[in-house]
Amino acid sequence: MVKYRLMFTAEMQNIKTLQPARGISDPGFNYYIKMKCGSCGELTKKDISVNSKKKVSASWNSPNLVMKCKYCEKVGTVTVISGTGKPLTQELSERGKSAPLMELDCKGYEPVEFMFGSGWKAESIAGTKFEDIDLSDDGEFAEYDEKGGCPVTIYNLHATFDVLMSDFKEMLFAYEIRKLERVRWEVEQRRAKKEENEFHQ
Ligand SMILES: [Zn+2]
Repeated sequence: MVKYRLMFTAEMQNIKTLQPARGISDPGFNYYIKMKCGSCGELTKKDISVNSKKKVSASWNSPNLVMKCKYCEKVGTVTVISGTGKPLTQELSERGKSAPLMELDCKGYEPVEFMFGSGWKAESIAGTKFEDIDLSDDGEFAEYDEKGGCPVTIYNLHATFDVLMSDFKEMLFAYEIRKLERVRWEVEQRRAKKEENEFHQ
């Protein structure tokens, strides 16, 4: 199981915030992702759609999607963890920084590309709300904000998947902790020996 954080950014003109239409934590928001098989590297033919509300089974830890590679038949799962994102703000955008959109647990598959799709909302610096923005096909958004008397645009969309934690990293972490414990034990042994020698002198 590898955990990823989906980060997104865009260039924005006179826009204060950008996020999914029903809020950044909307469990029904559909994420369109291109996945790669972890065994053979085959890419999914079409972009998969996944949201945290739709589950494979009724159990509490059910993944949101089970996939089988068409090429090597390896089975993998995808689980969306919503409620872990933050809206993209003007400040982040201007500094060229990204905002987290959600987290993703993947087994057997690796996310390679995120498609923005439709169902986004933005608020202008004048406070005008633009609902149901379509950002499909890396689409640009351009409108005129009557209240602010200025154009509002969203363009240059960009998304990345950052690896948060993998089994390998956890293993390495546990190994480093054990190594540190051993070093501490050795230091204590040496100190005890030294104190004993000093006592006998
Ligand atoms: Zn495969």
